[in-house]
Amino acid sequence: MALFPQSFIDDLRSQVDLVALIGEVAPLRKMGAAWKGLCPFHQERTPSFNVNPDKGIFKCFGCGLGGDVFKFIELHHKVAFPEAVRMVATRVGMPVPETAGGSEDREAATERESLISLHDQAVAFFTEQLAGASGLRARRELENRGLTAETIATFRYGYAPAGGRETLAALFGATHVPVPLQLRSGLVVQKEDGRIVDRFRNRLMIPIARDTGAIVAFGGRALEEGQVPKYLNSPETPIYTKGRTLYGLDVTRAAVRKVNYCVLVEGYFDLAQVWQSGIQAVAALCGTALTPAQVRILKRFTSKIVLSLDPDTAGQGAAARSSELLVAEGCQVNVALLPAGSDPDTFIRRAGAQAYRDRLTGSQPYLDFLLDRASAGKDLNRPDHRRAFLNQMLAVAATIPDAAVRDQFADRLAVKARITESVVRDEIKKAAAQRRTEAPAVAVAGVTRIRPHEQGLLWTLARRPIEGLAAISQIEPDDLEGLLSASVLQLAATLSDMPPEMLPELLRERLSEGERALFDQASNAEAPSASAADCVHALRRDRVKRESALVQREIDRLQQEARVDGEELTVLFRRKAELARQLEDLTQGN
Ligand SMILES: [Zn+2]
Repeated sequence: MALFPQSFIDDLRSQVDLVALIGEVAPLRKMGAAWKGLCPFHQERTPSFNVNPDKGIFKCFGCGLGGDVFKFIELHHKVAFPEAVRMVATRVGMPVPETAGGSEDREAATERESLISLHDQAVAFFTEQLAGASGLRARRELENRGLTAETIATFRYGYAPAGGRETLAALFGATHVPVPLQLRSGLVVQKEDGRIVDRFRNRLMIPIARDTGAIVAFGGRALEEGQVPKYLNSPETPIYTKGRTLYGLDVTRAAVRKVNYCVLVEGYFDLAQVWQSGIQAVAALCGTALTPAQVRILKRFTSKIVLSLDPDTAGQGAAARSSELLVAEGCQVNVALLPAGSDPDTFIRRAGAQAYRDRLTGSQPYLDFLLDRASAGKDLNRPDHRRAFLNQMLAVAATIPDAAVRDQFADRLAVKARITESVVRDEIKKAAAQRRTEAPAVAVAGVTRIRPHEQGLLWTLARRPIEGLAAISQIEPDDLEGLLSASVLQLAATLSDMPPEMLPELLRERLSEGERALFDQASNAEAPSASAADCVHALRRDRVKRESALVQREIDRLQQEARVDGEELTVLFRRKAELARQLEDLTQGN
């Protein structure tokens, strides 16, 4: 069950005057069938913001944002989908219905709100402690890092005391926070003897927020020599998933959108130092390789990324995986290298802001960086070296989604390997095709009861929305009978008019928690071996087989009752033959 009945959402959408609603925020002018204006979500001089009242959607060709009335309200008022639905309902005077499966969702929503409020209390407590007598050591640490009072206040650093009477656990106890909720927050832990104690003790506290600003977790840095671990982080909780948060974006998102690029750094203090040096369009990974969910968050603000990396790790491990993911997701990636052994934090402190800015200005496209790196130490006059180099680069080229970018890469690769461009382009096409056919069979492990073809459709909707939408437009409601993902696919079909690249996001926020988990699991799995169109075919075949079995059962029943001469049986046999024909057509592929 989705958050709201689809019929209600459709009614709302049809009742609201999108042009009037958006026009209150961004003046629009009619041009042909569409309305145009300056985009309210990014700075521009010529209008690239379009509203199509017939389809009920808006789309900006400058920053890429688009969606329906709810998406617009979400972006403009910075609220979540359910809140946007309520606001639109109030505007048109429609009561919001309670959904059947809603009580669980509501309970979960209430718990999430409580957890966020506990984190708010914790931030207030930690910042107060930092200012107090016990915060001296932590204040000195920040001072040694060269961080200014403005930076400290902006990122809301705090101090978690070592123990004693003033602890977070004591505060929660005094304000009667239920113990299970306290524990669910991850901010306190229960000892074997039952006592509740703070998770973070004697640490410099770094609040981690969603890009909307709600604080959902903390990083705690050790303050003493030998205190382990050096960084202690909140566990995953109902409000915090590590791979779904990018540190700092809550502060920097406006700057990122404005300059239309984002510097990506490793750690909390890299980010603080870069921000303080005047480059405010920055986000931090905090030790892990980038996840697809994080790329999606980034792409809401920009698709131009400058990776600020240590040359020792650039092109290796987590940095390489992050870069490759960004390239595969269609981002424009540059690499800004620092001297060996330094990170942005230490580099800026030592060499200054201008030197760092120079490094960013001199950053190199990631694909060029890879070409240089892979060819280094190889003698490309030698056929074996050249083959090895080509194979390595063709594998990368096959992941580039944009054909123009791929061709550009092919040309540079050709120059480098001293072969003709057409040969490289052909090889890339072959590599890309092979990649598709070599993709392992659908990973069903971990996805219980979901059929491979459903999974394939969900994957395609998430990763290749245009192809996915085209495929599900061919589905009939009966095809979905009994499928675990029926409600997700149905909902996706109702979004077919939305800008396809927004589909995964629009879909995710309209799903219930369980449905969203299903969708995410499928979209994070390996690429399916069958195309979306083939998946739809398979689902139709299943449906025809189901109906055929039903018809056969009915025939059996009638024959058992010896009603062999009736009109009824003739109709059933005719239907069965018709279904057999359909099945044959579907099996032949059309
Ligand atoms: Zn825009």
